[in-house]
Amino acid sequence: MEITERVAYLKGLAEGLCLDTESKEGKIIATMIDILDDVALELQDHQNQIIEISDGLDAVSDDLEDVEDIVYDEDDEDYDEEDEEGDDDSEDCYATTCPTCEETVYFDESILEDGEVICPNCGEKLEFDLSGLEENGSDDDEKE
Ligand SMILES: [Zn+2]
Repeated sequence: MEITERVAYLKGLAEGLCLDTESKEGKIIATMIDILDDVALELQDHQNQIIEISDGLDAVSDDLEDVEDIVYDEDDEDYDEEDEEGDDDSEDCYATTCPTCEETVYFDESILEDGEVICPNCGEKLEFDLSGLEENGSDDDEKE
């Protein structure tokens, strides 16, 4: 604790140099050192409290993450399983965002061929440009 150490040093210095606490200046300096001492101790208390609050927030944040895992888990697990197996089955999985409700909609290649998918959240019919998706793929794989 740097500040409390420096105040302790200042106190030692005043004693070592035999500060005359009976003189006007000596009284003022001794009072200032006392005040500095109190300020340093209060600062230390505040810093400890901040660490405690920070630890408490971390615990709340961890708990919230657990709750989020439970609330949002179902769809993600299904998607991950499909995604992992997708490479072997040569069945690609796609995702788009519904423009009406902003729900992320997942669909596979067979739906892509139809050129449209119904949003499971709001029932909006989403149409997409098949050629646009193919163009993106070939751009990434461009070879010379
Ligand atoms: Zn929607």
